[in-house]
Amino acid sequence: MKAKEILQKARDNGYALGAFNAGSVEIVRAIVQAAGDKQAPLIIETSANEANYFGMENFLDVVENFQQSSGLEILTNFDHGPGLEECQRAIEAGYDLIHFDGSQLPLEENIKITQALVAQAHERGVLVEAEIDRIAGQSVANFQDAESVQATSNYTDPAQAAAFARQAGCDILAAFVGNLHGTYPTSPRLDLERLALIGQQVPCWLSLHGGSGLSPEDVRQAIKMGVVKVNVNTELRLAFRETLENILRGSEDVAIYKIMPPVIAAMQKIVEEKIELFGC
Ligand SMILES: [Zn+2]
Repeated sequence: MKAKEILQKARDNGYALGAFNAGSVEIVRAIVQAAGDKQAPLIIETSANEANYFGMENFLDVVENFQQSSGLEILTNFDHGPGLEECQRAIEAGYDLIHFDGSQLPLEENIKITQALVAQAHERGVLVEAEIDRIAGQSVANFQDAESVQATSNYTDPAQAAAFARQAGCDILAAFVGNLHGTYPTSPRLDLERLALIGQQVPCWLSLHGGSGLSPEDVRQAIKMGVVKVNVNTELRLAFRETLENILRGSEDVAIYKIMPPVIAAMQKIVEEKIELFGC
C-alpha cells in the first residue's frame, strides 16, 4: 500500500503512525521488531545527518529488506530535509515521504521550494511534509524548563498555516503548538485549542514532532485533531546510550552480536509503548 492510503487509513480510524529515527541497522531492527510484535504500520526515518552516517541507499535497502521479509506496512521518511537539493536526492533515492524544513526561510521562498518538491514528489507517489514555524528544542535530554524553550519559537497561526498549505500543496504540515524536540524535566504542554483550529483549517494532514517528551494525554488529544504522524527520536537515542553504557560496564564481551541485543530490546520496548499510545 502506498503512503497516501496508509496515512488516510490512520486518519479514518483515529490513530497516528509513529515516525521513528534510525541512525543504524540496530535501531531499524528494534523498530521493525516492535512493528512485528504489534502488527502495526509505522514510519522509519532519517535526518540528513543520520542519512549521511547510515548512507541513504543503505538505509533504504535495509528497510526494504525488513519490509519484504516481514510483510509489514513500513514507510520511510527523510526527516527535516534542510534544502531543495537534499530533499530532491531523497526523492530520487526512494523515500516514501520527505519533510522539507523551510521554517528558517522567508515564507515566499518556503512556498516556492515546497511547491517544486511537491511537483517532483507526487509524480512518484512520494508525500511531502512542510513546516513554517520552527519546532524548537534539540533531540537530546534537555535540562531547561520547557516553557523557556517554547518561548523561542512562534506558535503556528491557523489562518497562515491554511494559506501556506493551500499554496504550497503539501500533504502534511508540521505545526508548532508547544511541541519541543527532546525531553525536559516536565513535559511541554501543547496548545490544543490552537492545534484544533489548525486541524480544522488546513487542507492537509498534521504531524506532531517532539513525540518523546509529551504527556500521553496531550498526544491522544492531538491525534483526534488531525495528527497522523508523531515523530520520536530522543527516547530511542537515550535508551541506546544508557543501555549500551550499562552493558559495557558489566561485561567483557567484544562481539557486537552479544553486546547489542539488550540495546535493541530497550529501544523495541519504547517503540511498542509508542505504538500503543498512538493507537495503531
Ligand atoms: Zn522534528
